Amino acid sequence: MPDPCIFCEIIAGRLPAAVLYQDERITAFQDAAPIAPVHILLVPNHHIPSVNAAAPEDEAVLGHLITVARQLAQAQNLQESGYRLVINTGPNAGQSVFHLHMHLIGGRKMPFHFK
Ligand code: 5GP
Repeated sequence: MPDPCIFCEIIAGRLPAAVLYQDERITAFQDAAPIAPVHILLVPNHHIPSVNAAAPEDEAVLGHLITVARQLAQAQNLQESGYRLVINTGPNAGQSVFHLHMHLIGGRKMPFHFK
C-alpha cells in the first residue's frame, strides 16, 4: 500500500474531503477534480488496491458500492437523465489511485467512447 494511501486517509478523516456518505463498509466523497457536474467517488473502507486484488469476501462490499451509488444518483436527481459508474483498473484504464474506487459521474451528456 502506498504510505499513506490518500483514500485511506480520507476515510479515516485525516485528509479533508467533501464526504457525502459513510457507513461501516464504504465512504463516498466528491472527486477533487470533477469531470462533470456530479462526480462522486465511492470506496470500500478497507484497503483493496484494485479490482484485481478483490477477494471473494469483498463481493458484498462491492455490491454495496452500487447500491449506495444508486441512492446518491437519486439524491442528485440523476435517475431520469442517467449516469455512469466506472471502476478504472490498471494502467490501460488510467487508474491513478490504487485504492479501489467507483466513479459516479452525471449531470451532463457523455459520449459513448468504450470502443
Ligand atoms: P482513477 O483515475 O484512479 O480512476 O481516479 C482517481 C480519482 O481520484 C480522480 O478522478 C482524481 O481526481 C481523484 N482524486 C485524486 N486525489 C484525490 C484527493 O486527494 N481527494 C479527492 N477527493 N479526490 C482525489
